[in-house]
Parts: sequence; structure tokens; C-alpha cells
Amino acid sequence: MSKIYHIKGVDSNQYEQILEKELKDKFKRGMVVAVKLHMGEDKGMFNLELAKRAINVLNKLGCKPFLFDTPVKYLSPRHTKEGYEKLAVKHGFTKEKIGCPVIISNDYVVVKTEHMSVEVSKDLAESDAFLVLSHLKGHPASGMGAAIKNLAMGCVSIKSKNDLHSLGLPEVSDACTACGTCAEVCFFNAIDIKDRARINAEMCGGCSNCFYNCPNNAITAEVSFDTLMAEAASAVLKTLDNKPVFYVNDVRSITKNCDCFSNPGEIIAKDVGVLLGDDIVAIEKASVDLINEQEKKNVFKEVHHHDPYLQIKEARKIGLGKEDYDLTRGVGK
Ligand code: SF4
Ligand code: SF4
Repeated sequence: MSKIYHIKGVDSNQYEQILEKELKDKFKRGMVVAVKLHMGEDKGMFNLELAKRAINVLNKLGCKPFLFDTPVKYLSPRHTKEGYEKLAVKHGFTKEKIGCPVIISNDYVVVKTEHMSVEVSKDLAESDAFLVLSHLKGHPASGMGAAIKNLAMGCVSIKSKNDLHSLGLPEVSDACTACGTCAEVCFFNAIDIKDRARINAEMCGGCSNCFYNCPNNAITAEVSFDTLMAEAASAVLKTLDNKPVFYVNDVRSITKNCDCFSNPGEIIAKDVGVLLGDDIVAIEKASVDLINEQEKKNVFKEVHHHDPYLQIKEARKIGLGKEDYDLTRGVGK
């Protein structure tokens, strides 16, 4: 069973106390620590203050942290290293304000998985330890996005991001009755219903929503989006070769859509707080469980027709962690 900390508010110094308590024996003096986070498309991003407070702890421990992210595949200033660097400055992610260098990483090492050759950030692969700062929110392609997505999409090249969205291209079989359900759940508008469902491969985002929701099992795919995400996340962790990793999930400002949208949309669940732990599967499961317990429904499945537990299950199956967790409120013993 993995230990996961839960703090409801972040005004006290419990956040720093937990980080210091958990990191001090593993994140040793002199270690170069890669700190992954999303520095914002427009309105949504990892909370600047929480990032700064984590860096303060790492500096206090004598580590050498740097913040990093990678360029994105879609049309945005973040598509290029230079454009993202400017946007990071605009959003306050600078060495002066944060207390460590900020790197937009665009060199990669290749890791092979069952279905992919994943190009993983070289800056991350060459670091001594890894701190993953994730803002949990909804996502139309995966139900929700937090730590697994932060690794799978956030630490890889544009080519690998494209592969994640294209390798699970679905096919429609003769069992299709043209009921239209798949078109209703396709965020990318990639499906036309005529005599049967027709998928436009150019528009398909490979999210597997049609595959999961077809009432007649008429859609097949060689591999699901959730499996690919788990594989990419495992490739990212493999580059670290058992070096220490720690996760912070900020489960507040839970918007309908991802921070990669210029407008992430309305708040769809009440704040849960901040979770911390060293098991990516357990922290994701605990985060979603707490939201769903509070809202008394599977929030992201209802909004995006995509069960968030699927990516968690795939990550557990591939050996990234345990779904069982022991929730500690506050600093604990
Ligand atoms: S949901 Fe299934 S049966 Fe319905 S139109 Fe789509 S592929 Fe055909
Ligand atoms: S996988 Fe299916 S639901 Fe997802 S974008 Fe492609 S056609 Fe649409």
C-alpha cells in the first residue's frame, strides 16, 4: 500500500513540511532535480506559488533544481522552444521569481515500448531526481489529466505526442448499426454517420472514446489511448533508471478542460486540496477517488465519456505503481 498525503489548504507550511520530510533522504545535496510542470497556455497552468514553494524546499535541501517542459504539437506559442520560453516569462516562470533555471527541453533520448519508440526529454534523462508537479483537470481525450498525462505527453517530443494521438486509430466493423453514439462522444468531430460510422483519420485524435462507448462493440483499435499513455509514462520513468521520483497533484480549480486550452472552461468539481506521494498510480487513484466521493459521481466520465480510471489501471498493469493507498491527512507521523 502506498502512502499518499492529503492537505486541504495550502496556506499553512504543511506543504513544505511534507516535501522536506519525504525528500530529505532521497533528494540529496548536490543532486540535479528536474521539476516538470505545465507553465500555461493562457489561463490554466500549475500554480506559480506552489512551484516556487517546492523549489524553496529543494534549494534548502542543497539540491540543484530546474523547471522544465517540452514544446507542444498544436498551433500555439508553445509549439517552439523560443515561443514557450517567452510565454513562461509572461506567466512568471523565471529564475528570479522561482529561484531556479527554467528550461524548455527539446533534445531527446529514445526508449522503446511495446507499441512506440518514445522520445523522452534528454534534460530529464540526465538529471539525478525528478519532481512532478501536476494540476488535475478534465481532458476530452483522456477524461482527466494529471501526473500520468504530465509524463506521457509532457516529457516527450512532438513526434511522440503525435504518435500518442495516432497509433490507436480505430476501425468500424460490419456490426455497426449507425446508431450515432460514437459521433456524439467524439470531441474531435471525426465521425460521420451515413449507412454506418465513417472515421476521418485526418481528424481523429486517437482518444478511444468511440471504441469505449459503442454499444455494439463495432469499433476496434490495435491499442487504446490509455495504454499508449501508460507506455509513454513508463518510458519516461525508465530513463531515470530507479532514481528518486516524487509527485504533487494540485486538485483545485478543477476545470472541464486541460491547461493546454486557451480557455479551460468552467469548474466542474469542488476543490479537494493537494496530494503528495511517490507512487504515480496511487496518487492519481486517490485524487480521482476524492473528487468522486465529494461529488458522488464519476465526474470526468460523465463530462467527457472517458473513464479516468482506465489510464490509472493501465499504468498499474504496466508496473508503474499500486492502486491501493493509505491516505494521510496533513503531515502525519
Ligand atoms: S456507436 Fe457503434 S454502432 Fe453506433 S454508429 Fe458508432 S460504430 Fe456504429
Ligand atoms: S478515437 Fe474515435 S472518438 Fe476519438 S477522435 Fe478518433 S474517432 Fe473520435
